[in-house]
Formats: sequence, C-alpha cells, structure tokens
Amino acid sequence: MNGYNTHVGGRLMEIYDQLLAAVGAESWWPAESPLEVVVGAVLTQNTSWSNVEKAIAALRERELLPQGSGVTPQQSAAAAQEAGRRILALPEEELAEIIRPAGFYRLKARRLRNVLAFFDDVCAFDLVWLSGSRRHDDDTLRRALLRLGGIGPETADDILLYALNRLSFVVDAYTLRLFARHRLLPVACTYESVRSMFMQALPRDIELYKSYHGLVVRACKEWCVKRRPSCPTCPLGRGLWAGVPQMH
Ligand code: SF4
Repeated sequence: MNGYNTHVGGRLMEIYDQLLAAVGAESWWPAESPLEVVVGAVLTQNTSWSNVEKAIAALRERELLPQGSGVTPQQSAAAAQEAGRRILALPEEELAEIIRPAGFYRLKARRLRNVLAFFDDVCAFDLVWLSGSRRHDDDTLRRALLRLGGIGPETADDILLYALNRLSFVVDAYTLRLFARHRLLPVACTYESVRSMFMQALPRDIELYKSYHGLVVRACKEWCVKRRPSCPTCPLGRGLWAGVPQMH
C-alpha cells in the first residue's frame, strides 16, 4: 500500500470506527435469502427502500421469493430455484404489476428477468455455490453482471457483496454525499474511481465492506441528510469541523 492509500485508509478506518462505536454493527442488506438481495438490488434503483419493501412483500405474498433460509444448503438452493423460475415463468406485464410499488415497474420487470435468467444460466439459482465457486472470480462475475441490460455498477456491486459474498465495495448516493462533505472523494469523482479508492485503501475484508456500507446508510439517514445535515449531533461531527485534510 502506498503512502496516499495508507493516509486515506487511516482516515476511512477512523470514520468507520467512529460510526461503529456510536451506533454498533448495522446488518445491511435486509433480506431473507441471497435471491432476495438480487431482487432488491434491482428494485431499489431510483426509489426509496420503503417502496422496495412493498414490492418485496407483494412477491413474498405470491411465494415468488424463498421463505426464510432453508435448513440445509441444498434446501436453500432448491427454494431459490423454485422461486426464481416461478418469476421467470410469469408474463412480464404480470411481474410488472406485482412490483409496481417500486416504481419504473415495467423497466424493472425486464431487468429482473434479465438478471434472474443470468443466475439460472450460471448456477441454476444456487447462489451459495456460486459465491464459493473458483471458476468464477470476482472481476469476471462483475463484468458479466455489467453486461446485462439495466445493471449498472451500484446494482452489480450490491449483488456481488451482499448476495454472493464477493469483495466489491458499494458506492451509492449516500457514500458520495458523506465522503464529499468530508472532502475525501477523488478529484475525478466517477463511480469506479470512488470504488477503487475504498478498495485500495481499506483492508480486503468482505464483512468490513458490508458493515461499512450499512453504517454509511445509517449515518446518512440519521444525521447526514440531504439538506441541513445534523453535524453537531453526528458521531463524525468533531472530525469534520476539526479540519479534515484534503486528499488531493
Ligand atoms: S452529518 Fe456532518 S459530521 Fe455527520 S457525516 Fe454528515 S457531514 Fe459529516
């Protein structure tokens, strides 16, 4: 790790530790199965999580998602396969109506079908097997997801990290907001440059990535809101006003 990464890494870990100490571990992503993470990652595009929850509930009601986690990995895989193939068997318009609360429902129905067809093809919906498969490395999987229609880097990274347990840092609007306010984003602020910054500076630890993203989401919902952030009461408030060094 070079000096720049060490410096940024130290600052990023400081922020993580402060948030963790203040609010404790955040279990993000909220889902009952890896397949539900995949579905939620598509549904959450351009909408709030509360709308996603309504669409997920509608899918659950129709038994189109695995119910809870299976007792054995084989049972979980079989339940995911059954649910995934049921969704794929639905006419696209019917699926769109079910997920309507998530907004952009026709578009999302198509995207959902694309991504589910991909997982049927690659692993017959056995996402637990795929998560440990050496035949499919992280980058190859990421590139394959990004080639699917309507799957951008944030959705791909949500799926990689939370459904497949792969090392891939998720950058979302919350991440950009919080780290821009702390002047920690790279000059050329693209999705890939911000993701690289985190991945080069942080330890290569999947659980850390998951927990970090969860804490950023929590901080942005509670203190670092879009307008009028509550810095004086935020666990990161002192660091901000003490003059955080500019990274570029
Ligand atoms: S609320 Fe203020 S101190 Fe807290 S994360 Fe946002 S900018 Fe930083």
